[in-house]
Amino acid sequence: MSTLFGLPQLTDPDRPSPPVDETGRRHQPSPDELLDGLNPSQRQAVAHEGGALLVVAGAGSGKTRVLTRRIAWLLAQRGAHPGSILAITFTNKAAAEMRERVGELVGGRARIMWVSTFHSACVRILRREVARFGYGSNFSIYDDADARRLMTLVCRDLDLDLNRYAPRAVLNWVSNCKNELLDPQAATDKAHNHLEETYAECYTTYQTRLRDANALDFDDLIMTTVRLFQAFPDVRETYRRRFRHVLVDEYQDTNHAQYVLIRELCGPVNPRRTTDGDLVGAAPDDGGTSSLTAPAELMVVGDADQSIYAFRGANIRNILQFEEDFPNAKTILLEQNYRSTQTILSAANAVIAENAGRKPKNLWSDAGDGELIIGYVADNEHDEAQFVAEEIDRLTDDDAARPSDIAIFYRTNAQSRVFEEVFIRVGLPYKVVGGVRFYERREVRDVLAYLRLLVNPDDSVSLRRILNVPKRGIGDRAEAGVDVLAQRMKTSYWTALQRARDAPELATRSLRCIESFVDLVESLQRLVTDGARPDEVVEAVLTQSGYLKELEDSTDPQDESRVENLSELVAVAREFADERDDATLADFLERVALVADSDQIPDADEADGVVTMMTLHTAKGLEFDVVFLTGLEDGVFPHARSLGDQPELEEERRLAYVGLTRAKQRLYVSRALVRSAWGAPQHNPPSRFLDEVPVTLVDWRRTASAQTSWDSSSASSRYASGGYISPVASSVSSRRRTLPAAKPTAGTRPVPSLAPGNRVLHDSFGMGTVVSVDGVADKAVASVDFGSGGVKRLLLRFSPVEKI
Ligand code: ATP
Ligand code: MG
Repeated sequence: MSTLFGLPQLTDPDRPSPPVDETGRRHQPSPDELLDGLNPSQRQAVAHEGGALLVVAGAGSGKTRVLTRRIAWLLAQRGAHPGSILAITFTNKAAAEMRERVGELVGGRARIMWVSTFHSACVRILRREVARFGYGSNFSIYDDADARRLMTLVCRDLDLDLNRYAPRAVLNWVSNCKNELLDPQAATDKAHNHLEETYAECYTTYQTRLRDANALDFDDLIMTTVRLFQAFPDVRETYRRRFRHVLVDEYQDTNHAQYVLIRELCGPVNPRRTTDGDLVGAAPDDGGTSSLTAPAELMVVGDADQSIYAFRGANIRNILQFEEDFPNAKTILLEQNYRSTQTILSAANAVIAENAGRKPKNLWSDAGDGELIIGYVADNEHDEAQFVAEEIDRLTDDDAARPSDIAIFYRTNAQSRVFEEVFIRVGLPYKVVGGVRFYERREVRDVLAYLRLLVNPDDSVSLRRILNVPKRGIGDRAEAGVDVLAQRMKTSYWTALQRARDAPELATRSLRCIESFVDLVESLQRLVTDGARPDEVVEAVLTQSGYLKELEDSTDPQDESRVENLSELVAVAREFADERDDATLADFLERVALVADSDQIPDADEADGVVTMMTLHTAKGLEFDVVFLTGLEDGVFPHARSLGDQPELEEERRLAYVGLTRAKQRLYVSRALVRSAWGAPQHNPPSRFLDEVPVTLVDWRRTASAQTSWDSSSASSRYASGGYISPVASSVSSRRRTLPAAKPTAGTRPVPSLAPGNRVLHDSFGMGTVVSVDGVADKAVASVDFGSGGVKRLLLRFSPVEKI
């Protein structure tokens, strides 16, 4: 990983020769130069000619390096035209990096090469060709929010009960169909119960509406391109002739639609049967047009152990059955890891070995054993962040690493918040990649806008931000109408809202919506003037405004992480209120404003760069000298929803393998004994992945037994949830029973007492099975598996759920 974040790299082993010679002319690299710094198997892959090629190998074995180098080889040695190359990477970020690497090797000619994600490649093809299907080439691409809006309209048009048929759930189902290349007709034919029939009906209507709007959603991009190739052999022929070389990185994360797309591009292949017995791979015209052009040279690289997108339809079989899919395919294995020390590698190998049914690999490194892995058990998540910050300070002071060589990984975006706060406090520059800073996240800003409004009703910016968030029927026209009134009365927007009935031409319906919004705000304001704690106000805003419900009803994975972020915000407020007995909401907002303001990171010394924070999913394909793998607790990582589910647990383990193998020289693994969720301290057992690392490889700087603060600290913030079996924790959890139940804030029902395995009935999601329960009493949060509705995290106090 070199210049991905725009940071200069002192040495880059991926540059075999200077692209420009002393006279300023670009020189053509020689074969030796192109193969320089590669081992024999890697060279073989770079120089391979003919049938499809699969390079399958563990992490850090040079797959991406081989792919990049092969492009240079094709251009320089095989006389390939840059326009004949299509290189597919999984993320836009990886595409940018590869374009840059290839640019360094072959210069400006790299520009006309297609290096992109599947989605952007398909957009480019469709812009040129989709007129064949009657779309305009200026078609819109609907993002998630647009798609959901449309699906909501569709469900309404079909008179569906939105509680039973959550538009998000329908959309998920449709997305799965599209990933499997099932069009509405095929989906209808396959539907075999009422639910699926209804979903299929939604799909049909949704697709018609998309077409009417000259729009394609994200999944359509791939599916429509495949359909185009299949329906118009001449179009397919054009692209087959153009792309003589197709290269795909991270092949383990391709889904079925993407696989078929590659197959359509790369010429005749063996047909195969799907699990349902359908024949794929034999387009009716295969015997005809496909013979016109010899198959393109296909090279895919991947690692089944790093497949981490099954939840988006990625299909590991694509890599396992490559040789069946493509006749005369050749497979090259790479076994030497060039990235990590043997210690790091042995740890990663030991963890991934726990997954069943995988091909064993013999990945080794000659980088020497290097440092032991450093382990740390923190009292809580703040101590963990503090430890990481101190350790980074020490490493940089000792010149053992520069900040830009260091990365912190965590399982979910919300976990960055604690690190950000500690780093801001101690003045360590950092950058959060692939996620928005905590206080800049939309949902956090929305809720802060509510809070500001409660403290200062004249804050029109905050007011107008949340006027119709969540949607409550106050449209743009109504908003503008009130604005006119405010200007005429020369009052604040809030005062005008309170007198909305005087506004000109306000529809009765809008007026009713405005009045109920005013009621909501006034009742929340009373809560504040009555002296409620900041955390109680935050919770009241979340529930009474309907904000939380909207997110919880959604099955969009992004909304799930929004709920997690909001639970973090409740935790921040609760901590703040615990610190200061008389803390008001205004005090809390002031504190938050200060943290948010100091978000302006001081300019770091350029060459040293900044520490990078990211989720494990974002880390795929990258590498850093020093890696902190944090939050290694069962329920955090592996994620709570995977605990009862073997395939999901194995996917989490692959994610752990990805995380561990990002480290080149030093690896830290840490966990916290207590971590807040919804402001409730939650006691998580160590991650099972920690147990899977051989003990001889880890130097534990601090262990659970060193943790002495149980008795000295306030019991109320230290109680544990059940299920943890260490002596320390069980004594604590028995203490928990003597704690008074937390005082309910809003007028709520009794909280059902649930345990993993219980069956429950939820008003909107129907029947489900409890996977795990964190926290107690009115702070209890349960993860419940609602089958096709997905796994939901429910704050039991507010969820319409009962035990059956
Ligand atoms: P991942 O599975 O994580 O995507 P990968 O197999 O794609 O890893 P690369 O990122 O290509 O591996 O390579 C890992 C590191 O090893 C890089 O720093 C790369 O430059 C270096 N490397 C690869 N091959 C060699 C080699 N033959 N000699 C020296 N260094 C190498
Ligand atoms: Mg790679």
